[in-house]
Amino acid sequence: MALANKKSAEVHGLIPCCPSCETKYGIFSAKLLAENNGMYLVHVNCKKCRTSILALVTNNQLGSSSFCLVTDLNSEESLLLKDKTSVHLDEVLNLHELLNSKKFLKTLTEEEI
Ligand SMILES: [Zn+2]
Repeated sequence: MALANKKSAEVHGLIPCCPSCETKYGIFSAKLLAENNGMYLVHVNCKKCRTSILALVTNNQLGSSSFCLVTDLNSEESLLLKDKTSVHLDEVLNLHELLNSKKFLKTLTEEEI
């Protein structure tokens, strides 16, 4: 969903330009993915370099702030993944060990009969 005018202006002020090419975002370039108690999860795609960011924007009595990260996800993919559980460190280590094991390399190089 596109941001309404007031929210769009608030988000635009906190995420003024692309972190990759510094092109200024248009006021309607942000797409609201979720909203909860003055916190907005927003996806923004740069029209010039195609870099996307996910931003968590907050507005409360203390002021406004944003936290942004560059992503290769589009807005639909971001929505699908936003409620998934995080990856645990043990899972990352297990995958690392698997990818470096001789057994894994052998599996890749063996031909199926
Ligand atoms: Zn850009």
